[in-house]
Amino acid sequence: MAQLLMNDGYKIVDKPTQASVLIVNTCGFIGPAKEESINTLRELSENKRNDQLLIAAGCLTQRYGAEVARQVPGIDGILGTRRWMDIVQVVRELRKSPHPEPLYHLPDASTVGSEETGVVRASVAGTSAYLKIADGCRRPCAFCAIPLIKGTVVSRPVETILEEANKLQDEGVRELILIAQDTTDYGHDLGMKDGLAALLERLTDEVPNIDWIRIMYAYPGYVNDRLIDIMATRKAILPYLDIPLQHAHPKALYRMRRPSNINWVHETLAKMRSKIENLAIRTTFIVGYPGETEEEFQTLMDFIDEIRFDRVGAFKFSFEPGTSSEALGDPVPAEVKEERYKRLMERQQAISLQINQGYVGKNLDVLIEGYGDGISVGRSYRDAPEIDGMVLVEGNAPIGEIVPVKITGAMAYDLTGIPAQAPITL
Ligand code: SF4
Repeated sequence: MAQLLMNDGYKIVDKPTQASVLIVNTCGFIGPAKEESINTLRELSENKRNDQLLIAAGCLTQRYGAEVARQVPGIDGILGTRRWMDIVQVVRELRKSPHPEPLYHLPDASTVGSEETGVVRASVAGTSAYLKIADGCRRPCAFCAIPLIKGTVVSRPVETILEEANKLQDEGVRELILIAQDTTDYGHDLGMKDGLAALLERLTDEVPNIDWIRIMYAYPGYVNDRLIDIMATRKAILPYLDIPLQHAHPKALYRMRRPSNINWVHETLAKMRSKIENLAIRTTFIVGYPGETEEEFQTLMDFIDEIRFDRVGAFKFSFEPGTSSEALGDPVPAEVKEERYKRLMERQQAISLQINQGYVGKNLDVLIEGYGDGISVGRSYRDAPEIDGMVLVEGNAPIGEIVPVKITGAMAYDLTGIPAQAPITL
């Protein structure tokens, strides 16, 4: 949306007070995200001047457009996530004439994917870029509202992705983070076999100067030998896998309508660890899913002890109307969810700390993202931006460069170190 507006002559400004158009890209995934979206809209609406437009876009408005407008008086336009490319048209329409009621723009197109009007679908932060490879999801997870919001999966054509990756490479991007609701499903709708592996082959062959390629959101059951081989043999593909498992007890997984073959998980992770040197594995779990017994939760705790993931994220179950778990209700009390969440995170923190301590004395390549007060901040291959840890490096290292760092200290999430090749000067 920002790119389309800039092509139409708009500029990005720093503060809401400087803007003529205020756009909130809402999230409708779980309760806390919905709340944050509404609160942000309310705050902007309360301080809005008469010459400013306020547009609510994104997933929450796609699903609950009228409800959002009811809760936040003062919204001028409602644009869903499936037609973000219509933003310029919506702004023009709103500017044309006064509109006592919000303008709704929620066409029921199946999903986005092909009609993208030439914008680069990457969000760039420093020298890292999130590159979208597909949008929407066709999996049946019972707790998840995303298929209701986004529709089924639409993969972006390989050539479009390569073109964007090339552009990003030319702009100096060092790290590409491939995202989709389920990256392992990439290309299925295009009739591709092993689409993600095929895409990775093309990316590493045809965009050779990207240093790091990171794969997020791999659905269990679809990490196959071809993907493992590509990850093991192509240097640019980081030995990092984010595989959201959601639970470890087969009955809980069955109620979630997720793959419940835990043996597959054990075998696949063992195979990956044997083939991919220094593999870092990240996962996420839901605690307090309807019907989760203490025994099921204990199975999950034993599982994290056994697998020893590098990184674990956890969510407390959020009841989402309209999903197929609606009929199960939300019977696990909030305090039980909270207590299980804490227990799980504490256990994982101890595991993460032990794993991190194993890096002390070793060298890691670190992508530097900033510095101040004589300390530089960066990430190693083990750290996806925002969700994983950081490496704090002594001295002012060059931003955007990947530098070797000798690790000298470990915390539960972060590492500390010194430049391995002294001295780095600016
Ligand atoms: S794979 Fe992910 S996005 Fe798709 S339905 Fe399951 S949880 Fe939702």
